[in-house]
Amino acid sequence: MIRRQCGIPMGGEANHLKGAIRSAADSESIQLAGRIIKTGGLVAFPTETVYGLGCDAMNAEAAAKVFESKQRPQFDPLIVHIADPKQLNAVIASLPVLGQRLMDAFWPGPLTLVLPKQQAIPDLVTAGLSTVAVRMPNHPVAQAFIREAGTPIAGPSANPFGYVSPTTAQHVADGLGGKVDLILDGGPCSVGVESTIVSLAGPQPKLLRPGSITIEQLSAVIGSIRRSSSVNEQPIAPGQLSRHYATQTQLTILAFVGARPILKDDERAGLLILSQSRDTDDRFAAVEVLSPTGDLREAARHLFAALRKLDSLGLDRIYVEPCKEEKLGAAIMDRLRRCAAPRQ
Ligand code: AMP
Ligand code: MG
Repeated sequence: MIRRQCGIPMGGEANHLKGAIRSAADSESIQLAGRIIKTGGLVAFPTETVYGLGCDAMNAEAAAKVFESKQRPQFDPLIVHIADPKQLNAVIASLPVLGQRLMDAFWPGPLTLVLPKQQAIPDLVTAGLSTVAVRMPNHPVAQAFIREAGTPIAGPSANPFGYVSPTTAQHVADGLGGKVDLILDGGPCSVGVESTIVSLAGPQPKLLRPGSITIEQLSAVIGSIRRSSSVNEQPIAPGQLSRHYATQTQLTILAFVGARPILKDDERAGLLILSQSRDTDDRFAAVEVLSPTGDLREAARHLFAALRKLDSLGLDRIYVEPCKEEKLGAAIMDRLRRCAAPRQ
């Protein structure tokens, strides 16, 4: 276990701990995380969706470190996380009635809203846009951390840009290890896919990224929502880039549930399936089952860990069974399609 030494200055403390994973169950870890944020450092933290790479949302220099450590292009804005609706005043300039309704229905939770931005939010955080993406996570560690930091926290997923998002502290360490000052370990994420993003900045609500709060749930609260036609439009969310959330290993989505590819003699292939298969599938070098009972929530929770596991095996190709694009299946298929998209 890594122990903080008394009496060493903040800079030294952060250096000493660089990239260390600390259990978030320990209140000292949360206090340390708060101090790191206040001095412009980076803390990876658990949320219910995926792990985030957090910095002080009001500090442009700290935000620059986030972009640098992820190798994230600066056209790609960050989500600002709050722990209390009172923090909204520091982040957004105005709140339309539909925004209030969505917050009442789904916050705290995995829903990000894009709204007119408050001037004090640095341009780097919003990639120069006049809008800001804001979310109140419902993970107790995320909430405690944001409160301790005493400022809204800007944070994208804590992984190198374009790769599969992290759902455990170890995933963060594998991808960004020495580039963050501290990794707070809150266990595996319960949702497992990134937040649903809805823009309320235009004349009509628009879904920018599907997530575990489904379009059906959103429509029940605010009526009709436009779906973004993603790749044909200029991407304002990386969730809209045609290739993202991607493994190193080429991924192919099979045509239908139960379809199996013809493998070449020497092909080492992996198979990712939603539920337990009737076939033995022993031609594959590795098989990952997302949910033995076919439960979409369980499947989403396991999706990124399963993709990372298959990607670590040096396979020639990963084949994936599709799922129905209903409810959470829409978010799962959205991520898989972007993972399978050809490199540009
Ligand atoms: P990540 O946390 O890396 O999964 O991505 C954060 C998501 O929020 C990205 O899809 C961002 O582009 C999106 N986002 C952040 N700010 C805005 C904004 N002002 N307008 C649209 N999307 C945004
Ligand atoms: Mg990301």
